[in-house]
Amino acid sequence: MIRALIKKTAGLSGPGKIIRYVTRFNPRILMYHGLTENPTTREWTQVAIDTFKEQMQYLRQFFHPVSLREMVAMLESGKIEPHAVTVTFDDGYKSNYDLAYPILKELGIPATIFITSRFVMPQSNRYLYLWPDLISVILKSHAPTAIDLDDLSLGQYNLSSERNIYSAHNEICERLKSVASTDNENVVAALYERFGDTIDDNRFSDFSPMTPENVRRLAADDLITIGAHSQNHPILSRLEPARLEEEIVGSKRDLEEITGVSISEFAYPNGRWRDINREVVEITARHFECAVLTETGLNLTGHNKYLLRRIGIGSNLDFRQYRAMLSGVYYIGQKPIVRLEEAKND
Ligand SMILES: [Zn+2]
Repeated sequence: MIRALIKKTAGLSGPGKIIRYVTRFNPRILMYHGLTENPTTREWTQVAIDTFKEQMQYLRQFFHPVSLREMVAMLESGKIEPHAVTVTFDDGYKSNYDLAYPILKELGIPATIFITSRFVMPQSNRYLYLWPDLISVILKSHAPTAIDLDDLSLGQYNLSSERNIYSAHNEICERLKSVASTDNENVVAALYERFGDTIDDNRFSDFSPMTPENVRRLAADDLITIGAHSQNHPILSRLEPARLEEEIVGSKRDLEEITGVSISEFAYPNGRWRDINREVVEITARHFECAVLTETGLNLTGHNKYLLRRIGIGSNLDFRQYRAMLSGVYYIGQKPIVRLEEAKND
């Protein structure tokens, strides 16, 4: 018995082992975005491929990888298998297909890939990039010269170092996430109008989308589930009502047309509590089997399947920090979220 326990909790040292054991019935959902072959990237959303491989090998060895569908069934029935974990990716980057898929396949790890549908549809992808990545691409293309965006109410930024570019990107994106969706779109269009010609797309291939054919091939593999992530990645709580349903349901329809497969899982764009509201959740629940947030933590028996927490994995984590995140140490004492109104206490 004790030997079995020690074996089960191996791979972590000291308190980490114990915490991992204590939280074994609180399933984790991991959130990735893209991968990169550039190990020195500072883009949080782009995890180096060797790092990702090491992380997946760790999951295979010490956790129990299951599909999101299986995890939701466990949460609903209360019959949770110990150390259950689900891998997810957001947005639909080409690296999901080129770099992540072969590793998942080799290790037999299921995953859901949530796709911003218009991002992977060449005929409707106006900028080639998701709008937050377009901001990053513009800033990097403009650096090291300072940039003045006062006329767009976005401020002025010094772009003389990577750190400055990174913080300018955060500041501009936060400003754009807090305005009405049409204003956001107008400002992004104005930025593209002004700076689009300066972008060398070859430099920014890590931000490229999958092709529809890539998506089709993934959908045809039982290991991979394609989920929806809106059509254009707007902040849903800031969208005018007329477009809300179309962004949510339209992305399901787009992806079903591409794949020929029924799409039943959804990820809220940006995914924080303030990015959704009751109406968003109600529309989602009418058309999907479950939905995930970017709010961080574990999930517990009885948890609302349209308000699933995830653990975001970015390029800033070393292996020790990754294991600590996975152990659940930061989330001890979290309660299940049953109703949206409870979210303000989370
Ligand atoms: Zn996203």
